[in-house]
Amino acid sequence: MTNFATMKNKIYSELKNILKKKPNILITTHKSPDGDAMGSSLALYQILLRLGNQVSLVVPNNYAPFLHWLPYNEIVIEFEGNEKKAEKLIQQADLIFCLDFNDLRRTDMMFDYLEKATAKYVMIDHHQDPSSFPDFSYSVPGASSTAQLIFEFIDKMGWIEYLNKDIAKCIYTGIVTDTGSFRFSSVNATTHIITAKLIEIGLNTSRVHQKLFDNNKESRLKLLGYCINEKMEVLEEYKTAIMSLSSEELERFKFVKGDTEGFVNYALSIENIILTAFFVQDKDRVKISFRSQNNFRANLLSKSHFNGGGHVNAAGGIYHGSIEDAITKFKKVLPDFEMELIANAKDC
Ligand code: 5GP
Ligand code: MN
Repeated sequence: MTNFATMKNKIYSELKNILKKKPNILITTHKSPDGDAMGSSLALYQILLRLGNQVSLVVPNNYAPFLHWLPYNEIVIEFEGNEKKAEKLIQQADLIFCLDFNDLRRTDMMFDYLEKATAKYVMIDHHQDPSSFPDFSYSVPGASSTAQLIFEFIDKMGWIEYLNKDIAKCIYTGIVTDTGSFRFSSVNATTHIITAKLIEIGLNTSRVHQKLFDNNKESRLKLLGYCINEKMEVLEEYKTAIMSLSSEELERFKFVKGDTEGFVNYALSIENIILTAFFVQDKDRVKISFRSQNNFRANLLSKSHFNGGGHVNAAGGIYHGSIEDAITKFKKVLPDFEMELIANAKDC
């Protein structure tokens, strides 16, 4: 693996040489792509297209409707349901860009096919502990978002003049959704400088916020109300709050993918709460989202007990079994983290 961050210019020239040969390019991202995954992928797609490349974008499965307004959304191929077509694109690819994940297993249903691919891999990502599969890696753990790195990559490749408003919308979407609208500690001066440059291109930030956050169905807001009112449990002793939703409850509120996005953050706004866990049933397993304050390592908790990982303050995992058993397990392991929870109190 060659690291862009350390090898600098040589790698960019190597990549430029590969691109001169007009390779078949495939862009992909992680399962259930979020705003950063889709924003980054669609931004890179458009830049490569404008540069005259042959490029396709294949994502493992579907993603939330609140992202469907993104420019070029119509060209996205979902692997699930289009396996034959996607498999062919993977086989034909000379260069595969992996965005917003650092371990091929995060592509889930695409993993077996990607593993067999003969293409060279370029990874651009901001998660901890990158694995060594890529030929070229631009990995900056702790960066605000992959979208921020996509901007830096475009800049370092000398492609800034190819940016336009549509690409700016995609990059901004990635930054906004992965930083809780610029509030997480991963936001730095560069994040704001990049945003300023996007605004200079003509990006209307308030319109993007509207598209992302003011497009709720009434049923989603009612589900949020129900979740907070009826399904939230505060464990004061552990500075922790839990929320959960069963399949039956999701159905009752006409759930569509993406509806529960962000719910986990509401409980974190309660005074003294350092850790939140949100359990959502998904057939015979439970998808868990963790959020934390300060230096509490939500990713460590998830990795140690829920087959997951992520960032210090935002992590996710899986439990195979019932929602009740998942919550019981969580409560059982919580005392192991008591010291770390206390050490990260909001008034520290
Ligand atoms: P979310 O709670 O929004 O689904 O995920 C928050 C973050 O946790 C994601 O950005 C991703 O980095 C990480 N994450 C979520 N689910 C998983 C998982 O199943 N495995 C791993 N390794 N990380 C995950
Ligand atoms: Mn991300």
